[in-house]
Amino acid sequence: MAVKIAEKIVACEVVQEDAAPAPTAAPVKAAEKPGVLPLVREEEGNVIHMQPLMKRPVELRGSTYKIKTPLSEHALYVTINDVEVNGKRRPFEIFINSKNMENFAWIVALTRVISAVFRHAGDATFLVEELRSVFDPRGGYFKPGGKYMPSLVAEIGECLERHMTNIGILKPLEISEELQAKRVVAKEGGLSGGSLCPKCSQLAVVRLDGCDTCLECGYSKCG
Ligand SMILES: [Zn+2]
Repeated sequence: MAVKIAEKIVACEVVQEDAAPAPTAAPVKAAEKPGVLPLVREEEGNVIHMQPLMKRPVELRGSTYKIKTPLSEHALYVTINDVEVNGKRRPFEIFINSKNMENFAWIVALTRVISAVFRHAGDATFLVEELRSVFDPRGGYFKPGGKYMPSLVAEIGECLERHMTNIGILKPLEISEELQAKRVVAKEGGLSGGSLCPKCSQLAVVRLDGCDTCLECGYSKCG
C-alpha cells in the first residue's frame, strides 16, 4: 500500500511481519476483601466487560437519614438500601427526596450513578472521598455545631460514610492520643476555627508549635 510521507524522515525501524502480538493484560482476579463481591472482568481484545448489574431482590432493608442545611428550609431525606452478600450488608441503592425541587435534576442523576456503582459489585467506599471533596463555588456552609460543609454533595458523601460505617464496611475514624492531646493544647491556647484542611476539607487547620495541624483528622504539614 502506498503511503505519502509528508514530513522529514529522522529515524527508522525494521518491523517483522511475523512478530508475535503483544500479550494482553491478564484478567482481573476476584476481589479478596471479605463482604465484597468479586469484580469479574472478561477481556476480549481491547474491550473490557464489567460484571452485569446485580438483580434487585424484592425486599431490601435500609436506613433513611435526614439532612438539614441552611441552603433550604426543607430537609433532604437520604435513603440507602442494602443487600446481603456472604452474610454482610453492602449498599445496593440510594434515593434522595425533598420538598425542595431546586436541585432535583442533578440529585436524581447523582443517585442513579451512585446506585449503578453499588450494583456493579466492586468496592464502592471510594465514593465517600469523591463526594466529600466537592466544593460549592458559593462557599459551602456551616452545620449546627460549627462543622464546615464544603457543599451539599459533600454532605451526601458524609451521609454515605455514616451509613457505610454503620453497616461495617468502613471503620470509624480513630482519634489517636496524639491528636487528642493537640486538641487540648489548641483549646487551652484559645485556638478555634482554622484554615481549610487539604485532607478532610474541614476548617480546622491551626498552627501548633510552628506547624500547621488539622484538629479534625490529624493532618500535619510536618509529617
Ligand atoms: Zn483534616
